[in-house]
Amino acid sequence: MKQISNENAANRTSYVGEVYGVGEKKVKNDILNSLPAEWANLHREGYIHIHDLDAYGKTYNCLTFDFLRNFPYGQFDGLTDTAKIIRLFGYIKTLFADMGNEQSGGMAFANFDNEIAAVYNNLGVRDNTQNREITAECIADLLLWCNNTHTRMGQTSYYVTLNIGLANSEFARFIAYSVIDEFEKLGSTVFKPNIVFKVAQGINRYESDKNFDLFQKALLCTAKKMIPTYLLCDCPQDRAVPPEKLSVMGCRTRVVANIFGEQTAIGRGNIANISINLPRLALEVECDFPNKTTEEKILQLKRKWEKIAYLVTEILIDRYNKICAMDSTDFPVNCKRQMWCAAFENVKEVFKHGTLSIGFIGLSEMIEIITGNRFYAEEQSYELALDFVKFMRGYCDAQCKGRNLNFSLLATSGELISGRFLEMDKPLFPLKAKIFEKGFYTNSFHVNVDSGISAREKLRKEGPFHVLSNGGSISYIELNEAPIGNDEGLRELVEEGIVAGVRYLGVNFPLDSCNECHSSGVFDICPVCGSKAVTHIRRVSGYLEILDGFTNGKKNEAKTRTSN
Ligand SMILES: [Zn+2]
Repeated sequence: MKQISNENAANRTSYVGEVYGVGEKKVKNDILNSLPAEWANLHREGYIHIHDLDAYGKTYNCLTFDFLRNFPYGQFDGLTDTAKIIRLFGYIKTLFADMGNEQSGGMAFANFDNEIAAVYNNLGVRDNTQNREITAECIADLLLWCNNTHTRMGQTSYYVTLNIGLANSEFARFIAYSVIDEFEKLGSTVFKPNIVFKVAQGINRYESDKNFDLFQKALLCTAKKMIPTYLLCDCPQDRAVPPEKLSVMGCRTRVVANIFGEQTAIGRGNIANISINLPRLALEVECDFPNKTTEEKILQLKRKWEKIAYLVTEILIDRYNKICAMDSTDFPVNCKRQMWCAAFENVKEVFKHGTLSIGFIGLSEMIEIITGNRFYAEEQSYELALDFVKFMRGYCDAQCKGRNLNFSLLATSGELISGRFLEMDKPLFPLKAKIFEKGFYTNSFHVNVDSGISAREKLRKEGPFHVLSNGGSISYIELNEAPIGNDEGLRELVEEGIVAGVRYLGVNFPLDSCNECHSSGVFDICPVCGSKAVTHIRRVSGYLEILDGFTNGKKNEAKTRTSN
């Protein structure tokens, strides 16, 4: 067993983890063997990646809780305020633990501040000093639980995201304040759960807005810890949806449009997603048609993509049909907790509200292979990139109509596949060595991490792609070091993002923390106490992780980053 020395590592080994790992491998293999060879080979040969393969036909991916719909108020009868608060937070921890074992991906609260305050209100918990003190302590305890508990699959921590910022009462404002404050006070070695601050005009975006103070507090915390990240509810394409209906998973999954009902994230989630390896398709076109014009190559590329997307659609529908054919008794916790927007007694009526996403990675490398230019560096290449993403989105929209299911286009983070796809392509195309040099493919539609272009320019280039990627997307600004105290600078970036059309924004910087004296900065040896016991924390796929736990592709990406 490989031991990871740091106690905060997300993927620690254990007896249960080892057994789980062996089982996971077997399940994945069995599933691939059970699928039509044409589908399985696409995955095996690296044309596509079927995410969470072990959950194929067994469960869905992620869920934003409909926390209030069936809240068990009866359990709190006759308790004191103190007991109600403590038991409520206990209930939430149990919820994460239980639900986390019945689905493959993340769990989110869409409005943690308002939802907790609403429960308090219904339970008659008064807004007084004592109840505030207990609440703050329970929030700190919940954050620590999310950071430290690794019982999931015997080895991983839970992927939890708390969306906050729209607090509409004084107690809700206190809850939002405490989430940020306690997270900040817990220091740099506590980097979970993911906290998302929802920025919305009339609520917190401007100085005259009631929760502007919370926005400032969030920015100051981000400047230290990279968290919160920011959901830009005012971006042009989301303005029509009330901000309280918007929510995002830490991994960036976005669920809003619904052909079966209301546009909302609440009580809904992603069923499954499959990502397509764009650089592979470009490499094949380049080898097959070296003398064709760029336009003709792009046309070939679209044909190739569409053929694969058709099979991907079939796989997603097969996966969807398989979980719809399951019985509600296969999901005992879901039946008990009822966190989806529809009653879990009929799984098909529940899962039709979920999304099926077609993802993509390496748009930048795809364009570079075809045109010789990086897409953000030259107008014509940029237009080609944008046109290609429009084409993929058009395909997904057509599937919504044709298949009568919620298909969406996902700008995949590629936690694992940025390296996996590249390693598989490298031996196949020895003449294209240059494209493989950096050791990973670029995240979704992102500008290359070593572009060196300004933050404003990066957001302007990436914004139009957010508009098209309705299954989820994020833009990152890379900084050389923590922008401590610079909330104004970060606020300008948020404003730039909103104008550019960015839906979801994060700030990345290297964050090293001394295990002995808890100093933080950028170092291998602590400058304060001289300790070599240093934790390197980086964000690579939505959530912050310890660098040692990264896949090779992601380690290479972390090394290549240069500041915007
Ligand atoms: Zn130290």
